[in-house]
Amino acid sequence: MAVPAAPISLAPALAEIEARGLRRRRRTVQRRIPESAEIEVDGRRCVDFCSNDYLGLAAHPQVVEAFIGAARIHGVGARASHLISGHQPEHEALEQELAAYTARERAIVFSTGYMANLGLVRALAGREASVFGDSLNHASLIDGGRLSGAALYRYPHADAAALELQLAARGSGAAIVLTDGVFSMDGDLAPLPAIAAACARQGAFLAVDDAHGLGVLGRTGRGLLEHFQLDATEVPALVGTFGKAFGSFGAFVAGGEDLIDTLVQRARTYIYTTALPPAVAAAIRAALKVSIAESWRRERALALTRRFRALALAAGIPLAASETPIQPILLGAADDAVQASNALLERGFYAAAIRPPTVPVGASRLRITLSAAHRDADIEALVAALAEIQVPG
Ligand SMILES: *Cc1c(COP(=O)(O)O)cnc(C)c1O
Repeated sequence: MAVPAAPISLAPALAEIEARGLRRRRRTVQRRIPESAEIEVDGRRCVDFCSNDYLGLAAHPQVVEAFIGAARIHGVGARASHLISGHQPEHEALEQELAAYTARERAIVFSTGYMANLGLVRALAGREASVFGDSLNHASLIDGGRLSGAALYRYPHADAAALELQLAARGSGAAIVLTDGVFSMDGDLAPLPAIAAACARQGAFLAVDDAHGLGVLGRTGRGLLEHFQLDATEVPALVGTFGKAFGSFGAFVAGGEDLIDTLVQRARTYIYTTALPPAVAAAIRAALKVSIAESWRRERALALTRRFRALALAAGIPLAASETPIQPILLGAADDAVQASNALLERGFYAAAIRPPTVPVGASRLRITLSAAHRDADIEALVAALAEIQVPG
């Protein structure tokens, strides 16, 4: 008689997650007050300090109107993938505007940033390639490397010299370097000039995921590449997402003609999925325009960031070395982060606890994000609450 296969036992694994203080529960945000950072969570009105809507565009009237207007014309769904019959004028126009916005030959729109990174890395890296990534890269870049089947190397966080040693020691074959621009859980910046120089010297292809820099950093909001004045030769592939500063949904890769055409031919997360709803593309186009026209939003998000840092430092609250609207407060143990988050919620502030595996073990934190939608009084009250709950200093 055949031995029955061992059943998959989920309950013990879940119990172990619980025992380690790592069980994740979703809180339903019942209500958002339009054009503010106020939300209702667990029946309580509070100020949202964990959204990525840095410019306050998710409910901007022009963005919402563009979405509704396009839905009336095109319907809700794209009806097919881009290579079948899903590619429509809103997508085409958005891609051209993105190419101009990023000063690159072409851009291609993906349904999410996660999919953009998976598709990009796998399309670029064959099995003979080597992929090098920062140790704190976003999960989607890490997974892209794994899925590609290439040899994977992680270099110490933001360490261009260590990266260059790894690149120099590699065998033959293509080398691809992947890094977040602004690190999503830490808010610090990748040292892109040094990384780009190392890639140029070692003949490696550099792709930067600027999900959190686009719309926020640089003289005109073009992101970290503008901040460092790096061009398309130095950074041949740029990934951006629309779910952060542009308050919408979706992502893109911008680069040279051959890169983008390679993605059309080979990026499986582009080819085998339904195109982004055209109304979402219309909303993104409106958000891009507003982000440029209302540059005060970017300045405001950064001014509030400086204000938060000044007040927090004066109150003895330990901050990380981040000048961006991502302001982590490191607490270490997962339980401490959860307790701090709950204590804040009781006082009317929502800042989710970030725990492993999103961050390394022992590096659990509150991740505060600031937005143009916040009021000065929100920032002051948050710092007072942080001081009251005695975040360890
Ligand atoms: C949010 C994020 C992504 C994923 O983008 P989605 O569009 O939400 O899938 C990718 N990379 C980084 C650095 C991010 O912060």
